[in-house]
Amino acid sequence: MPELPEVETVKETLKKKVIGKTIKNVIVRHNNIIASPDVSTFKEKLIGQKIIDLSRRGKWIIFHLTDYYLLSHLRMEGKYFLKDIGDEVTKHQHVIFEFTDNTSLRYQDVRKFGKMYLVDKDKLLDCEPIKELGLEPWDNNLNVSYLKEKYKNLKHPIKTTLLDQSIITGIGNIYADEILFLSNINPHKLPGSLSDKDLSNIIKNTKSVLEKAIKKGGTTIRSYTSDEGITGMFQNDLYVHQREKESCRICGSTIIKEKIGGRGTYYCPKCQK
Ligand SMILES: [Zn+2]
Repeated sequence: MPELPEVETVKETLKKKVIGKTIKNVIVRHNNIIASPDVSTFKEKLIGQKIIDLSRRGKWIIFHLTDYYLLSHLRMEGKYFLKDIGDEVTKHQHVIFEFTDNTSLRYQDVRKFGKMYLVDKDKLLDCEPIKELGLEPWDNNLNVSYLKEKYKNLKHPIKTTLLDQSIITGIGNIYADEILFLSNINPHKLPGSLSDKDLSNIIKNTKSVLEKAIKKGGTTIRSYTSDEGITGMFQNDLYVHQREKESCRICGSTIIKEKIGGRGTYYCPKCQK
């Protein structure tokens, strides 16, 4: 599943390919991917729109168009490809944006879990996917007192809490394990029991792990690659995630795997007491 660094990589790659292009036609081959508005309005509104910029909020890619924002979530397997209009359309290319320069941007999704929203420019902050999101890892408001307030009454382990997108957005399973390892925090601990030092380590390591992963183009685990020919390299830098029974790179102890909140969790029993 693509996480924040992979989505950031896709967004940066798309930026180089599609900024300045104008949509002349939209083909939707699997209606469920369009969450809002209805498919015919979605297609109609997009015609004549120019792609001005791209940004990211949480794991949403945001296309800035002349009059709207197009929000796209890749979920498990979503990918984008830039092709010529005449190129063969393959089975899993479900949404196709055709441009006036005869190229086309194709959204491909084997699992069909991806979602797109088209929203008016003044509605971005109120729209369903965005309004629920917590702070970005690099937001200046992400500090010890913010986490203390959010964490004080929680009954879930810190591992589960880090995955809660309404507190800090963009941390997925891989990076949650790595952040807790680097912060020397046991994943079972209750968030409210963490010291100020722990919280400030979480903030510091969230930024550094994600920044490092973005620099490496994300993490390639299982089938996920961000775009044609682009493969992230951060998997080589992981300390604990998917390293069950291997030795801790710091202390040599054996890395443990346990299910926490239903998610496979990897940690070092000695470094993360
Ligand atoms: Zn260790």
